[in-house]
Parts: sequence; C-alpha cells; structure tokens
Amino acid sequence: MNFVCTRCGRKEAVTTRAAHCTCGGLWKLEADLPAFVLLSAIGAGMIKESLSKEESNGNDSFSFKTMLLLALATSIDALAVGITFALLPDVNVPLAVCLIGITTFVCSAAGLKVGNLFGLKYKAKAELAGGIILILIGLKILLEHLGVISF
Ligand SMILES: [Zn+2]
Repeated sequence: MNFVCTRCGRKEAVTTRAAHCTCGGLWKLEADLPAFVLLSAIGAGMIKESLSKEESNGNDSFSFKTMLLLALATSIDALAVGITFALLPDVNVPLAVCLIGITTFVCSAAGLKVGNLFGLKYKAKAELAGGIILILIGLKILLEHLGVISF
C-alpha cells in the first residue's frame, strides 16, 4: 500500500515519516479501488432491490451487514486521510477523532431521519436514486484514481 499526495499525486511507501509531500500536499492512503468496489456493489444491490416488484412490508431498514458495508465504504476515504493525522505534529488525535466521530454521527442520524420521512413515500425511487448516487461516487473515486479527472 502506498501514500498518494492529495496535491501532486506522487506516491510513496507508507513507511514515510513525513506528514507532507515535498510539494506541501498531505499524504493520503491509496484506498480508491476498495472504495470503488464496495460502493458499486452496494449501489448495484440497492438498484436491484428498488427494481424488484415485491414490496416487503414492515422491516424496510437496511440489514446490519449492508449498513456495515455502507459505513465502511463511505469511511474508507476518511480512513485514508485519517492515517496521516498520526504523522502531523500539531494534531490532537483523540480530540480530532471525537469531533469527527460526533459530527459524522449527527450528520448520519439527520440523514436517516430525513430519509425516513421522505423514504416511506418514495421508497423505491429513493432507493434507486441512492444506488445510482453510490455508483457515481465510486466512479468519481475510480476516475480520480486513474487520473482521468481531478478535483
Ligand atoms: Zn505532492
């Protein structure tokens, strides 16, 4: 596994002890491919689910396994950047972890609440849209990885 510079794209072994690339960019763990694979797989699953005619009554929530995969897929990027935190000299890692954790929790909980309010009415369409969005995010990560596009 390599670090990849978030600014110039240079790669270096993870054994590097510097937090920054020579260009000043921050190192980020190269984890684009697993993120793309996970996001695409979950997105495809959601699209498939939304297209299947049978309306499952009652328990419409994601299974624990799907949720765990989704959490992992959407967090790989954070993990990739987060590892560099340990290399930065002036970052209070426990504090940063707590703040990021709380922020992510609040955002996710709000998203679930909003999703529940609208999702019940437009469940199939919402699931289809969600699946497409996940695949697009995965595609964006892959294209960035391949250097086709850059943001
Ligand atoms: Zn660089």
